Amino acid sequence: MTTTPCDLAGLLPADRLITDPARLASFAHDEAAGAPYALPAAVVRPRDTGEVAAVVAYCAERGVPVVARGAGTGLSGGANAVEGCVVVSFAAMDRVLSIDPDERLAVVQPGVVNDHLRAACAAKGLWYPPDPASAPWSTIGGNVATNAGGVCCVKYGVTRDYVLGLEAVTGRGEVVRLGRRTAKSSAGFELAGLLVGSEGTLGLVTEITLRLRGERAQEHTVVGYFDDLPSAGRAVAHVVAAGVVPSALELVDRYCLRAVDEWKNMGLTDGGDVLLLARCDAPGAAGLQEADTVLACFEAAGATWSARSADPAEADALFAARRLVYPALERLGMVLSEDICVPRTLVPEMLARLERTAESNGVRIASLAHAGDGNLHPMLVVPRGDERQLARGREVFEEVVDQAIALGGTVTGEHGVGLLKMRGLARELSPAVVDLHRGIKRVWDPAGILNPGKVFTA
Ligand SMILES: Cc1cc2nc3c(=O)[nH]c(=O)nc-3n(C[C@H](O)[C@H](O)[C@H](O)COP(=O)(O)OP(=O)(O)OC[C@H]3O[C@@H](n4cnc5c(N)ncnc54)[C@H](O)[C@@H]3O)c2cc1C
Repeated sequence: MTTTPCDLAGLLPADRLITDPARLASFAHDEAAGAPYALPAAVVRPRDTGEVAAVVAYCAERGVPVVARGAGTGLSGGANAVEGCVVVSFAAMDRVLSIDPDERLAVVQPGVVNDHLRAACAAKGLWYPPDPASAPWSTIGGNVATNAGGVCCVKYGVTRDYVLGLEAVTGRGEVVRLGRRTAKSSAGFELAGLLVGSEGTLGLVTEITLRLRGERAQEHTVVGYFDDLPSAGRAVAHVVAAGVVPSALELVDRYCLRAVDEWKNMGLTDGGDVLLLARCDAPGAAGLQEADTVLACFEAAGATWSARSADPAEADALFAARRLVYPALERLGMVLSEDICVPRTLVPEMLARLERTAESNGVRIASLAHAGDGNLHPMLVVPRGDERQLARGREVFEEVVDQAIALGGTVTGEHGVGLLKMRGLARELSPAVVDLHRGIKRVWDPAGILNPGKVFTA
């Protein structure tokens, strides 16, 4: 069934309903290259939970699809509009409701931008760790719905590890409060956790209670350049085997370094072909010891140059450059990006397989990785509008995904399944587990209106 804009007009004030096709277009898709999308029938910008619930109840009655949207920075098509849908944009629900320094908790609306929350916490001497490279734009609601990771997640965990409680609107339009504010609880199923990573298919998240940490310790940065991906991968495996858990361990390959250099002229490629960036933040002298161990691991793996950075500004600039990789590649064409995650000790093997796959298919695969937790982002740049190369790129990446699964890995470490990783998920999960997903979906969303056609085939 379709909806008409005037149907929704009674549910929320006129300035929070968008129906102008020119404006609708900017809510039609996320940042994923080549994922299908349609123009939404309408976009609503609720200011509170009551308005969200009213819109969802209205859509449930009429079988109108509902697609939740944060900032639209997703890389899997999860926020892409489907035919005839209402997009619920959480941009106007962007308040940090409270920060409790004693309990180390924050309560936020879903549209709060990750960096804004981190700044609000820092002002009270607290820290919210999950730090996706999209932190300047992506929202906590989107981070929760995709179980976002980031640079420091290798040591401090992903979004799921910080979500204590949620308020959500189910597919029936009911408002439910899930989880807790307490340090622990054994009361009932962990339904707040179930919603984390559910990509808007089970409920719309309208409020989030997050665990915080105390201010972060000083970090020591170790930089290493390598001749090729497998030796950088070996350095990662050495660090894992040494039992050191760095607070960041990032890999950036020659194609990524080159793209940033061409844009920002930072001289990144002068040092070598593959860059590993590590940070260690154990308190006091232990931090320096950890950094020395990481440095020894880099050297043992054959680093062509490595050093403990003595200049914090230079170290920050290198991490800033790492965050520029995706936009730098986007300047060159359409970026197909994967998000595989393999057991950490198999990082060298997966990187070697990536090189072989690129060679045998005659393509260039750029690699960027949260290498410390085995999460690799192989990327292919194809000319915009070239459907043949897009299809070819997709085939190459299906091969990559199959190899990651064969190594005991997963199709998505942090970006979510959305539209682009549905085939991989179907390969990764057994039919019985997909059936469990379907059963859970029916309970939360009996009319099947929430983000239909995403993640798995209902
Ligand atoms: C340059 C760049 C760098 C990135 N780096 C990282 C990274 O380091 N780590 C990482 O994990 N990701 C990264 N991403 C991917 C992306 O930023 C994350 O997936 C992020 O969590 C999406 O947040 P968003 O607010 O943009 O959500 P959107 O893209 O708007 O939505 C993402 C999904 O969440 C659902 N959703 C949104 N809000 C809600 C809600 N309130 N309730 C229910 N469902 C909701 C949507 O329906 C969709 O399925 C990067 C993206 C870019 C463009």
